Amino acid sequence: MDSLWDFPDFDEHELVHFVTDRESGLKAVIAVHSTHLGPGAGGTRFWHYADPSLAIADVLRLSRGMSYKNAMAGLPLGGGKAVILADDAKTKTPEMLAAFGKAVDGLCGRYVTAEDVGVNVADMVAISRQTRFVAGLPVAEGAVGGDPGPHTSYGVYLGVKAAVKRALGRDSLDGLHIALQGAGSVAGGFARRAAAEGARLSIADIDEGRARALAAETGGAVVGAEEVMTLEADVFSPNALGAILNEQSIARLNAPIVAGGANNQMATSQDGDRVQARGILYAPDYVINAGGIINVSTEYLKDGDQDLVRRRIETIPGKLETIWEESAVTGRNPARVAGDMARRLIGRG
Ligand code: NAD
Repeated sequence: MDSLWDFPDFDEHELVHFVTDRESGLKAVIAVHSTHLGPGAGGTRFWHYADPSLAIADVLRLSRGMSYKNAMAGLPLGGGKAVILADDAKTKTPEMLAAFGKAVDGLCGRYVTAEDVGVNVADMVAISRQTRFVAGLPVAEGAVGGDPGPHTSYGVYLGVKAAVKRALGRDSLDGLHIALQGAGSVAGGFARRAAAEGARLSIADIDEGRARALAAETGGAVVGAEEVMTLEADVFSPNALGAILNEQSIARLNAPIVAGGANNQMATSQDGDRVQARGILYAPDYVINAGGIINVSTEYLKDGDQDLVRRRIETIPGKLETIWEESAVTGRNPARVAGDMARRLIGRG
């Protein structure tokens, strides 16, 4: 690799900021993909990368994803992301978080941070001592803020219902079989709503205890992590890892709908065509899982209450419908249609 410009995920990012703080040992990269619609917003990931170039690729890809997600959610926010390069032992110190907060502050609001993998609410509180460009902070009961997970779950539930309506002509999840990958925060909230409506759930998690607990709560069955993607079901709902849809796994899918909250579900840009060729309806991940960022945005910009957050999340099914309709008319797969829409919204169409 000769330079940053040669990274496959480099997409005319507006800013790539390398942070090194010798005293605390902090190494981080902050990327702002686009501020066309507002400050570049997206979480901070704390992760051990085998090679620093993987961290750079990750932050480039994730910050572009946030531009798309925020644009499609209709938020006045651009896309940004940060990664903190953890050591083997994943040492995280208050000094590192303070140095990171100062680096965020130095960007004067072009980047706004929140939680991502490996970063929790307490870390955000520590970062917020150095900068005001932070969201995802604890809030008083009834105020907008806090854990975005339940809001993401609500959007996923509404999006799955929209997919069921379109692909199966059904208004309810009652009696439908849903294969659920993951039993964490997003999956849990979705599973509780789906079960309350009468759906039958098959639940897989690499943490079997989590799968068992969610199955007990929702009357579902535990299935193996290897098996869940191939189950005969009405909906396969990925709510765990990214890059799970690839040439091999798509060939083995056994459900007419793929709709779930996991980020970056497609391994490559060809996988959208593969899913479409199998006649499976796909809900683009960054559209269906925008409930959390809608909550974060409303918290950060202080432009609404919980009722408005709910109403904003309730626009997700309509957006999915628009994407599926354009896909049906043009023959382009839903992931491509969504990507083109997002790029037009950020002025890069
Ligand atoms: P979480 O950590 O609470 O849950 C993820 C679960 O997936 C864990 O229980 C983990 O054990 C399980 N898992 C990991 N690998 C697995 C595998 N191969 N098979 C089965 N289970 C596996 O995380 P979460 O907050 O629920 O997020 C889930 C997904 O949704 C992630 O892709 C995340 O990026 C995405 N997402 C989350 C939010 C949010 O608000 N939390 C918002 C948008 C997108």
